[in-house]
Amino acid sequence: MSMSVSLPLDNDGFLRRECPNCEREFKWHNGPANEEAETADVPVTYYCPLCGEPAPPDHWWTTAQLDYMQEMATPMIMRQVSDVLGDALRGSKHVTYKAGDGSDLPDPPSALSEPDDMRIVASPCHDYEPVKVPDDADGPLHCLVCGSAFAV
Ligand SMILES: [Zn+2]
Ligand SMILES: [Zn+2]
Repeated sequence: MSMSVSLPLDNDGFLRRECPNCEREFKWHNGPANEEAETADVPVTYYCPLCGEPAPPDHWWTTAQLDYMQEMATPMIMRQVSDVLGDALRGSKHVTYKAGDGSDLPDPPSALSEPDDMRIVASPCHDYEPVKVPDDADGPLHCLVCGSAFAV
């Protein structure tokens, strides 16, 4: 079973992220930002620009994104369970099963919005992978790709 939930990007194509270590938010570019990023190896870990701690690529969801994905996924899962259950029980003499019409399912949440906040910074060592950090983040910041500290 697979499903896709799309998350909003800001107007520069950046996706909001939350560090699993320091729990502060920043943004990284969703997908390759340019040709050089496209040909570079995809890192197995990313480094938080704010605290420099590494984590695997799928550990950076914000609380709002996780809530949103869960709310989006629940009706999809319930609908699939309902279909499977209906198939499994069809033909049974002892059980009658009537699939719901979907009206009892929770409504999908309203879409997340992504404001154009934060400022773009690029590390000197991997400048093809820019990030956005909060305006009040005063360095040193860390390279998303290799974790090297750099002054801003
Ligand atoms: Zn951090
Ligand atoms: Zn770097």
